[in-house]
Amino acid sequence: MSARVLVVDDIATNVKLLETKLSAEYFDVLTASNGPDALAICEQGLCDLVLLDVMMPDMDGFEVCRRLKNSPTTAHLPVVMVTALDQPSDRLKGLDAGADDFLTKPVDDTALFARVRSLVRLKAVTDELRARLMASRHGFGDPLATATAETGQNGRVLLVDDRPSSYERLSAALSQYHRVEVEADPQAAMIRAAENEFDIVLISLDLQGFDGLRLCSQLRSLERTRHVAVVLIADMDDRSKVLRGLDIGAHDFLVRPVDRNELVARVRTQVRRKRFAERLRDGVQHSMDAAITDALTGLHNRRYLDVRLANLFEDSAKRGASLAVLLLDIDRFKSINDRFGHDAGDEVLREFATRIRTLTRGVDLVARYGGEEMVVVVPEASLDEARFVAERIRERVGSTPFGFADKTRALDVTVSIGVAARQPSDTSAQDLLKRADLALYRAKDQGRNRVIAAAA
Ligand code: GH3
Ligand code: MG
Ligand code: MG
Repeated sequence: MSARVLVVDDIATNVKLLETKLSAEYFDVLTASNGPDALAICEQGLCDLVLLDVMMPDMDGFEVCRRLKNSPTTAHLPVVMVTALDQPSDRLKGLDAGADDFLTKPVDDTALFARVRSLVRLKAVTDELRARLMASRHGFGDPLATATAETGQNGRVLLVDDRPSSYERLSAALSQYHRVEVEADPQAAMIRAAENEFDIVLISLDLQGFDGLRLCSQLRSLERTRHVAVVLIADMDDRSKVLRGLDIGAHDFLVRPVDRNELVARVRTQVRRKRFAERLRDGVQHSMDAAITDALTGLHNRRYLDVRLANLFEDSAKRGASLAVLLLDIDRFKSINDRFGHDAGDEVLREFATRIRTLTRGVDLVARYGGEEMVVVVPEASLDEARFVAERIRERVGSTPFGFADKTRALDVTVSIGVAARQPSDTSAQDLLKRADLALYRAKDQGRNRVIAAAA
């Protein structure tokens, strides 16, 4: 979906001008000629970003911005104030009102599109974050609160600039809100960026004998730094360079002489965007982990086991390597539930999983197969080696009673284990599991609390 931009200005020709420019770049444009109309459109959730004129009769842009930022339904909407060049104090007032960014009239195309894109991107990740959090069952709290509470302050900033008069001024302005480090050498900057967790890297485009865009492209291509926000600091006549920079992935730019308020506002926006995106990625990782993890024991689940074991089987068959599986089943588990309750049964399962995990290696795959049955896959292991692992687990389960959290009792638990190793005649992992299952059945049949290896 293309982003919907609301243009608010009391002068019709100004509206028309911005509308034309934005439409040409495939934004959907809505318009309003006064504050109350603009607020109504925003309240209805019809737009993704607001371009707001400062000077309007009755309700001026600052007031509109304040109201948007004070309402929970619109607080997350990015607002760009369109200020007059001869009124620098407007920027400060805009910041106070909660504006996310500024543009100066007459509005320059490069700046307009860079700012709008950057803020639309920010809103897109915020929206996605909110939707994910709302859909997730993991109880992150109120998603809107999390999304808007991010202040974009106390960011870790790397300033790449080799002119003391410039970096001293910039870092003084930013240090009020962020932790700023200065690096004059672009090569060293790349290494520092890769070895540390910066939120944002500001790159001067007039470094001595070095093209700052190269650093920008290195940052964007290296896995370790791919997600850091990149902001270019350019001279007035660097516009083609800025355009190329935005093309290769810079998030925003500033033009010298850098306005202090503008610097602070842009850095804040980028820090917020980067943190939202980070949380979004964490959220995705979290739900991916959840999809392959058994919630009770924290072991891998059956779904993961099926896929992973099939891969391991194919790989070992191709290489002619060994591969063994253990199928473990707690003895008389039903009676534990019956005597002590289902919750006690759950505790036993968790403790059982923990003991298995501590007795296996990182390369072994431990999964909950179902109910009180677990599987351990031991790559590169022969039948004898696997039997040895199984015996160690059986011994470790049976020799020490299982304690409970309330410490009022301990319980003797035993386990039966069937072991099988891959044979050349096996056509799939299912054949292997089936032999382990038959061996397990025999272990139960022969009196439980024992390990039986499938006949070769
Ligand atoms: P055997 O020695 O032959 O394995 O006997 P058993 O009682 O362990 O075996 P059976 O398969 O008859 O019973 C397994 C029980 O495990 C039945 C089921 O209620 C219980 N169970 C399955 N999943 C869970 C769970 O997540 N939590 C608890 N507490 N019990 C579970
Ligand atoms: Mg069972
Ligand atoms: Mg059982």
